[in-house]
Formats: sequence, structure tokens, C-alpha cells
Amino acid sequence: MTCLECDVVRGAKTPPGGLILETPLFVAHGLVGGTPLAGWVVLAPRRHAGWWWELSDEEASALGPLAKRILLAQRRALGAVHGYAFAIGDVLHHMHLHLVPRFPETEKALWGRGAFDSKPEQHLSEDRVLGALRSLAVLLGES
Ligand SMILES: [Zn+2]
Repeated sequence: MTCLECDVVRGAKTPPGGLILETPLFVAHGLVGGTPLAGWVVLAPRRHAGWWWELSDEEASALGPLAKRILLAQRRALGAVHGYAFAIGDVLHHMHLHLVPRFPETEKALWGRGAFDSKPEQHLSEDRVLGALRSLAVLLGES
């Protein structure tokens, strides 16, 4: 069985900008594919867990503080005024959280789950995406 997230964890697939945060239990990285929002982060356990109910208690306990750390980094490093945390899991069956920043200039259509319905012409340039992820990685490395 192939799993995109397991491929990312073991280095067989490199997301844009690589891993921005690694802990013994989790990895965080930029969204694979185009994004309209700079600093869109995916947080996932290293171990293949299909959904929340397959997380160990230790993984579940680590998840909240890690999500908070990343959301705060999006605020401090990128100027996000809000940060969404989405767990959907319809497509990728390896538990993950989408941590999606919202900025003062973010158009209303991209608020909330609208971020998932962006059109390719709304996607940011690779430079912009990588720049934001680098800023996050630096701040997360210090916090
Ligand atoms: Zn997996």
C-alpha cells in the first residue's frame, strides 16, 4: 500500500521546502501541490495512523501543543491574523491536520474550507511558498 504521507516521512517524497519541523512523533511540512495561502502547513504523525482513533495516547497528547506552536509561528513569522486547523481525511488516509493561515488581505472566498476550493490561477508562486515555509522553519527551529 502506498501512502503519500509515509513517503514524506521516510524521504521518498519531498514536499515543497522539505520538512519544516520534526519531532520524535510528528513531522510538519508545506502542502504538496499549489496553494493560495503562504505558509499552509500539514502536520502528521510519523507512524501510519489512518485516523485520530488510531493515534497512541502519546501522539494524541503531543498533537495539540504542536499545532499551537505552528499556528503561533504562522502569526509571528508571516503575520497571520487567524489560523485554521482542519482534519478531513477523505483523500489521504494517514491522519493529518491542515494548519492554514489567514491574512488581512485574504479574500473571503478563501476563508475557512474555501481554501480547499482555490483555483490554479490563485496559487502563489513557488518563491513565495518556499519563502514562507523557510520563515516558519527558522522560527520553529528557535521555539
Ligand atoms: Zn501513511
